[in-house]
Amino acid sequence: MPVTAPSTRTQYIISLRERNPCMTLARIGDIVGVSGERIRQILKTHNVETKAIYRQSRVTCELCGTPTSNRHFCSRACQSKASRVQAVCDCCGKLFEMRKSQLLGRTKAGYKHIFCSQSCRSKYFWQHVKAALEATEMR
Ligand SMILES: [Zn+2]
Ligand SMILES: [Zn+2]
Repeated sequence: MPVTAPSTRTQYIISLRERNPCMTLARIGDIVGVSGERIRQILKTHNVETKAIYRQSRVTCELCGTPTSNRHFCSRACQSKASRVQAVCDCCGKLFEMRKSQLLGRTKAGYKHIFCSQSCRSKYFWQHVKAALEATEMR
């Protein structure tokens, strides 16, 4: 039957696309011996993705390593997780998360201490002010 040949070729084209997501249509066309535009038509008729995923093999999420078409992270969740750092509260010693930019901002602003909360901040300063006051009174 003459129908068999084109259908086998179509299957071959589809499998080429599926096995090589980074391959361009022109490259597939070269292999099969037709134009890239013809490949696009064939894939479209069969609802197969026509665009080559150029970056898939090269760009991976900086946090979890999932291949991504994005610049650095595969998802917003990974992006926000990666923008957070672990810090230790200078008052209660608790390990807590804060945004990297926030920490940098505080360091730039000249803060020597990092606190997990506003209450730890005031508690710490109160203790130190009290200690300083007591030290002056002792003299
Ligand atoms: Zn990720
Ligand atoms: Zn604290």
